[in-house]
Amino acid sequence: MCYIEVTADGSVSQGVDAAAYQRALSGQSRLFAVWPGSYRSDLFAIDDLDQYARGMGWVHDEASTGLAEHEHQVRWRLSESERNPTASYISVRVWLDCGCMVRDLGAFAKHMRSQQGWDIATTGGWGSSSERGGTSYSMRVRRKSLPQPA
Ligand SMILES: [Zn+2]
Repeated sequence: MCYIEVTADGSVSQGVDAAAYQRALSGQSRLFAVWPGSYRSDLFAIDDLDQYARGMGWVHDEASTGLAEHEHQVRWRLSESERNPTASYISVRVWLDCGCMVRDLGAFAKHMRSQQGWDIATTGGWGSSSERGGTSYSMRVRRKSLPQPA
């Protein structure tokens, strides 16, 4: 799949980025996706710009990630199931006191990396559990990226 942008004056460029999305949004250009085949290629106009931009990660999608665009208030402790607390990645249990939810670990990992420097493993398993103290999430985090206990 390749993407092209056609501006109002008719110039065509290949590849679409966040800036091209902004131009399309303001009506300065249109975006198309090309599906190449061996005998012919199909061209699709991208009509749902919002959905496209969310899919590409250019706009933040609070509904699907459960995360507000703010500094999260996070509490954590070592998971009770962690048997090797000095390993480079450890299981931790995380609470979000700011009221956010983790629906998309990749999005949460991105937030926590830029906000607090956490290095969350996004390839392994993770989970959530609800209890009286609220919902907690279990995930694996690089130990040295976590704040050290005082
Ligand atoms: Zn939050």
